[in-house]
Amino acid sequence: MTGHADVVVIGGGQAGLAVGYHLRRTGLSFVILDAGTSPGGAWRHTWQSLRPFSPAPWSSLPGWPMAGGETTYPGRDEVLDYLARYETRYDLPVRRPVSVRSVEHAGNGHLRVVTDRGDWTARMVVSATGTWRRTHIPDYPGRDVFGGVQIHSAAYETPEPFAGRRVLIVGGGNSGAQILAEVSKTAATTWVTEKPPVFLPDDVDGRVLFHRATARLKALQEGREPDIPAGGLGDIVMVPPVVEARERGVLRSVRPFARFTETGVVWRDGTETGVDAVIWCTGFRPALDHVTELGIVGPDGTVELDGTRSIREPGLWFVGYGGWTGPASATLIGVGRSARETARRIAESLSGDDRRDG
Ligand code: FAD
Repeated sequence: MTGHADVVVIGGGQAGLAVGYHLRRTGLSFVILDAGTSPGGAWRHTWQSLRPFSPAPWSSLPGWPMAGGETTYPGRDEVLDYLARYETRYDLPVRRPVSVRSVEHAGNGHLRVVTDRGDWTARMVVSATGTWRRTHIPDYPGRDVFGGVQIHSAAYETPEPFAGRRVLIVGGGNSGAQILAEVSKTAATTWVTEKPPVFLPDDVDGRVLFHRATARLKALQEGREPDIPAGGLGDIVMVPPVVEARERGVLRSVRPFARFTETGVVWRDGTETGVDAVIWCTGFRPALDHVTELGIVGPDGTVELDGTRSIREPGLWFVGYGGWTGPASATLIGVGRSARETARRIAESLSGDDRRDG
């Protein structure tokens, strides 16, 4: 498969679909290349009981609110179903499975998108590959000598394999809290976090966080110092299973250990604990392997941007990765704003260009 389009979008998760929705309205030709075998992006891989933070209207992409009201909190399967139907509803041109290997210069101001199923050329390329493919595990001494099980939260599915075992859950974000909440029902868990975790008040959910991100953006746009309460997307949202874990008394964390041994860990005070398994809930990094050859990815794993546009490669745009690509842009409700602005600016840049393809 090879082709040409005004715009190639890499990644068909929620960010790629939101960009597609807005590109559809520009009249530009575009295609969305997605490595997944079916719709849903990272949501296809999350653990079965994952609890999204926001009621249905606040878990929606542009144009089409998810069914359910302010008191309906969709589960993972409802989000997956919604994303699949969103693609069909807006007839988005998603090609899958197509894995993008690299983005290169094609001459004449175009970019070449090299995939496992042929190449595409485009004037503009939007990268919306998310973070799920780049798991992050911190480097603890002795990690390679530890003989127990180690998995990243990306590979966690259910608590059953851990029943009756001694499990360390490492990481103080929402993944850590939610996985701890269910594993602790049948295993002896220890929750390890670098700092004491920040728990949001029980009535703060994704809707409130989105309002805060919006207010913050508005203040910055108006040149004011944002006067927004502390609490961001990394803080722990008290979804019902986490509240229940708090009531059981298991939502307590300890500071990190000094090193692994073959059979457990040694704490900083020298005491030792036997451990059967470690679940690393230590996050992700942007999945940007396909653009590393262009030399635009900085030491922190991000790209220097003007809005969502690469400063050093102005044909390349980045949507949905988190704060560096726009406030709340890694959420269903928040990515719409970055996607709309990206499509608008792409159309503006290409307007009057008589080399449109497709
Ligand atoms: P992804 O969903 O990862 O999609 C990227 C797509 O790009 C994938 O289909 C992938 O196959 C494809 N891809 C990657 N590399 C390539 C390549 N080289 N070539 C072609 N295709 C490629 N978000 C919310 O909105 N609301 C919530 O309530 C919420 N709750 C969460 C709770 C927890 C505990 C966690 C951990 C996350 C939560 N999230 C929530 C976040 C959400 O799951 C992700 O941020 C979101 O899936 C990111 O979307 P994306 O489109 O940017 O990336």
